Amino acid sequence: MIYADNAATTKLDIEAFEAMKPFLLDQYGNASQPYSFSRSTKKALKQARNTIAACINADADEIYFTSGGTESDNWALKGVMCGLDRESVLATSQIEHHAVLHSANALENSGYCVTYIPVTKNGIVTPELLMMHMGESTKLVSVMLANNEVGSIQPVKELAVIAHQHGAVFHTDAVQAVGHIPIDVKALDVDMLSASAHKFNGPKGIGFLYIKKGVRIHPYQNGGAQEFGLRAGTENVAAIVGMAAALKKNCDNLLANQQHLLGLEKAMLCELTRAGLDYVRNGDPDHHIPGNISLSFRNASGEMLLHRLDLMGICVSTGSACDSQNTQISHVLRALRLDEEYATGTIRISLGKDNSFDDVHIIVNALTRILCQ
Ligand code: PLP
Repeated sequence: MIYADNAATTKLDIEAFEAMKPFLLDQYGNASQPYSFSRSTKKALKQARNTIAACINADADEIYFTSGGTESDNWALKGVMCGLDRESVLATSQIEHHAVLHSANALENSGYCVTYIPVTKNGIVTPELLMMHMGESTKLVSVMLANNEVGSIQPVKELAVIAHQHGAVFHTDAVQAVGHIPIDVKALDVDMLSASAHKFNGPKGIGFLYIKKGVRIHPYQNGGAQEFGLRAGTENVAAIVGMAAALKKNCDNLLANQQHLLGLEKAMLCELTRAGLDYVRNGDPDHHIPGNISLSFRNASGEMLLHRLDLMGICVSTGSACDSQNTQISHVLRALRLDEEYATGTIRISLGKDNSFDDVHIIVNALTRILCQ
């Protein structure tokens, strides 16, 4: 089996698994209890928060553990907007993940206004495009750091400046970026940032939301005093420890991983061209997540390609994983205004650090066999 769908999820890192084990078996104390048995879980939580904060240059008390990217996005959008009057506007992009877009829809259904910012053909929200969609009532801007379908990296630093000039809070969904490209929340000057562990070789069902000190946000859920009183519920200590270990390892090896993935990417595109296949690569060639390769083959069917590759033991995705039931052209490809004859033949190959040049060769050979039959 060749796994080339790392934007959907990644393999759990063995060191992260080893770090989690004691908290699944022996050290099961509730971190909120005062007795000495809970001391180790309390300490592990604190260390994990410190480690994660250091990886993105945040302060530890700005990291709030959540159940993953979807929850972080829901909380960021609804938690800020619900404290504002109904005249307030949320501005977000047309290419966001459904965790953001469907949260925006829910806010619209509650009476708030939402503006959907278009993107360039390369899938970028330029500062000019954001500027054109900012108004006096825009109170929250949410633009993803990296797109999950085509990998384009947004100019978040410049976008945050514009949001702040208009007095708006800036959130970025960095689920596809954290652990893959360097992230410094202070340099980016974002107010909130969403992340999810299973996208960077951590366990599933755990993530975090960075909330800069001073941002006014409603609690996500009520109950105990966990997560500084803003996100109640007994902490999943093992998953949190695994997330911190995985993130630290990915950040320590970031440059080497990036170089490896860029090498694989280059090899794949060269081989595809040499094979004479009629394709376009979607996204921005100069600003993209290493390893995320969205390819559109002329007059092909992305769904057919996915299933034929699956029969050959190769896992890829059409559009985003969450859309795999849906054979329609994705909202992202529509926003990119891709020609229909290419758009329907789109697959996303997302290579990870464990993929090899042999994998690339096998994938291209398989595609050539399918498309040239
Ligand atoms: N945001 C983006 C950009 C994603 O790619 C995903 C997952 O595919 C999510 C949010 C949702 O994250 P999770 O699966 O952790 O809920």
